[in-house]
Amino acid sequence: MATYRDQAIVLRMRGLHDHDRYYTVFTADHGKVTLLAKGLRRTRSKMSPHMAALGVVEIMVARGKVFDRLAGANLLEPHRELLESLPRSAITQSFLLAVDSLTRQEYPEPRIFLLLQDFMQVVASLSEDVLSARTIIFDAAVLKLLDILGHGLELDVCVSCRQCFEFDGNALNILRGGIECLNCRSGSSITISGDTIKVLRFIRTTSLKVIPALRLELPVRQQVAFLTDILLTSHLEAKFDPLRYMNSVRI
Ligand SMILES: [Zn+2]
Repeated sequence: MATYRDQAIVLRMRGLHDHDRYYTVFTADHGKVTLLAKGLRRTRSKMSPHMAALGVVEIMVARGKVFDRLAGANLLEPHRELLESLPRSAITQSFLLAVDSLTRQEYPEPRIFLLLQDFMQVVASLSEDVLSARTIIFDAAVLKLLDILGHGLELDVCVSCRQCFEFDGNALNILRGGIECLNCRSGSSITISGDTIKVLRFIRTTSLKVIPALRLELPVRQQVAFLTDILLTSHLEAKFDPLRYMNSVRI
């Protein structure tokens, strides 16, 4: 039987029968894959704790005709801080759900694996106070994910006339996927401030690890959250809504 090794981050787990589980994982080299794990619920199972932790797991996969099977798991990079704190685990689960909802199976994209890895490291390092309100890290990670998937907003030129726009007076055109200049926008569309556009460009070009140092004025912070929500909602293909989940678990 053909096997391969890879590094993976568990996005989702669901039980099957008494002893079996399905894990949906995002891997470094094979993209998102769903793996059948036989007998993992038995207390003697050695793989289960590795797969239940939030962290990077080295996995061995046996190719199957219908489902690939999890043949081995070893936790490489544990993040105990994520599991031990409700705010940290809630925001992490929200982003894992966003990745699961927005990505397709077996479409290799190492940048998403690295984004997940960075996200976990950053959230593990933040204080619970920072995370109890909606944090910019979630928004920045979702915006970066959408960029990788080709769903990011056009921020450099007006989506209608393709000219560079002025600092102020621009608006969001969600159907065209970007910013519309003062001359092209309709009066009823939502104005996006120059400061917000600057922050969106900064998030796009900067490592997630730098984002916690960002200090934003409240109106800009609110616009970034609004844009993240509207983009995420408009691109969600799956049944589960990470935003609703995050709001329901936020304390
Ligand atoms: Zn224009």
